[in-house]
Amino acid sequence: MGRLVMKFGGTSVADIARIRNVARHVAREVNAGHEVAVVVSAMAGTTDRLVGWTREAAALHDAREYDAVVASGEQVTAGLTAIVLQEMGIPARSWQGWQVPLETDGMHGAARIMRINPVGIIERFAQGQVAVMAGFQGISTDGRITTLGRGGSDTSAVALAAALNARCDIYTDVDGVYTTDPRIVAKAQKIARISYEEMLEMASLGAKVLQTRSVELAMVYRVPLQVRSSFEAPDSPNQNTSDGGGPGTLVCDEEDIVEQQVVTGIAYSRDEGKVTVVRVPDRPGVSAAIFGPLADRGISVDMIVQNVSEDGLTDVTFTVPQKDLDRALKAIDESKDMIGYERIRSSQDVAKISVIGVGMRSHAGVAADMFKALAEKSINIQAITTSEIKVSVLIDAAYTELAVRTLHTTYDLDGE
Ligand code: ADP
Ligand code: ASP
Ligand code: MG
Repeated sequence: MGRLVMKFGGTSVADIARIRNVARHVAREVNAGHEVAVVVSAMAGTTDRLVGWTREAAALHDAREYDAVVASGEQVTAGLTAIVLQEMGIPARSWQGWQVPLETDGMHGAARIMRINPVGIIERFAQGQVAVMAGFQGISTDGRITTLGRGGSDTSAVALAAALNARCDIYTDVDGVYTTDPRIVAKAQKIARISYEEMLEMASLGAKVLQTRSVELAMVYRVPLQVRSSFEAPDSPNQNTSDGGGPGTLVCDEEDIVEQQVVTGIAYSRDEGKVTVVRVPDRPGVSAAIFGPLADRGISVDMIVQNVSEDGLTDVTFTVPQKDLDRALKAIDESKDMIGYERIRSSQDVAKISVIGVGMRSHAGVAADMFKALAEKSINIQAITTSEIKVSVLIDAAYTELAVRTLHTTYDLDGE
């Protein structure tokens, strides 16, 4: 029957009744003959509360202690899930990240997985035991608890699946990946199959349904990944996945997708900050003077626009993650003499809207359709970036929902 990793997010384990429901999903797969490892998130709201406490304790705090605090949410659900499984007569035990062990680098708060060696879990599979691993957490090479960044349990699950040579099912509060966030567009449709590349773009451009890093790992290790709902009745016949097919969305190779739309999905992100450096001299070396100091501080720049110069001076606009905006402004301020600009402007009231689809490689005009549709709604475009399979625009955040809905209709993605 093979091995299976089943990951359950925060809303799916929000209370004991929901954990019982999770255990019934697990029981179904165990009864179908799978060796099962379960990966759980913290109960809904828990991680936010823990993060809040660390901030209240001290605005600037030790990142290692932040991780010690926020990793605790998953420890609780792993133990509770094992207790509920045992009570149902299914042998199970919990595994903390350090017990597996899931080893990471030392980037506290956003650690990357370096190695995972689940020999203990495999040994116990042979005895018929279900493993319940706490998601989101690991251990650094110097023995401290680390966390993988918000949404990181998805990545824990995919990494474990890769190490176990297993399939990975991500159970969440929606029944699959949609053409856009179903919370803001009621007409969004479930996608039956999406390629790793498209899912990677969707995730990194704002679709929170999977953590970006989890898709990267699934793509590199070719882990079959399925997104599905934990709220559907665990015992109904169409929940059985022994044949490898299933009721959710399959993230897979492009070659395994028969029907391909030009645009597969639309993502949005309100996590951008915009900076405009006003009246900089238009001469060689000026971009290096602006972006060098940002790179030195590890701030990644996304969109860049440089205006046509008038009288030898020009404006340069770029975006950075909102959390880095203050640091970016400080870096530019500190380099004022070297850059030689007049002033800086910044804004957080911007949103990035992206259309994504591998069909764009062979189909011209996607960007033009996008610009036209936004212009018809009088939505001004402040910056643009493109890649082979996506076009992103920066707009005023107030128009986020209107823009997403408009584009959803433009590319014929609306369902009933
Ligand atoms: P979990 O707690 O299970 O990890 P998340 O909240 O992280 O769940 O992710 C699920 C949410 O992602 C959904 O409730 C949905 O609002 C949001 N989402 C955003 N974009 C999409 C999309 N394209 N398809 C499906 N869900 C999406
Ligand atoms: N509990 C963590 C978070 O809320 C990790 C996760 O749920 O994936 O970000
Ligand atoms: Mg999540």
